[in-house]
Amino acid sequence: MDACPTCPQPHVVKAGQARGHQRWLCRGDGDQLTGTTPRGRPRWQNSLAVVLSCHGVAMTALGKRFGVWASTIRPWMRQSAADHAEQPAPSGQAIGLARDAMGQVRKNTGAHAGAGRLWT
Ligand SMILES: [Zn+2]
Repeated sequence: MDACPTCPQPHVVKAGQARGHQRWLCRGDGDQLTGTTPRGRPRWQNSLAVVLSCHGVAMTALGKRFGVWASTIRPWMRQSAADHAEQPAPSGQAIGLARDAMGQVRKNTGAHAGAGRLWT
């Protein structure tokens, strides 16, 4: 290992072993590093699963295809949406509606809260 993955510090030194794997110590921030293989699925599998899911392929089918649980696909989609989707800009119009106030007005007036009535 020649560099710390979390900081730009290049000075990483050996610091014993953990469960048979070499442990490394970052001189910059003091992190102890042991993992050498990346966890999770390759990035292309996540992207392909998201694209196929957007085109209508069921998550159970994708799970079987990629060898993961169907519930694993949803976090991939959420992460992809968080990475690539833009937040909508506020339109400047906000409508405040208090549920308790509606019920109280309905009780006091005895009238139905009919459609088309303006609540503020
Ligand atoms: Zn570091």
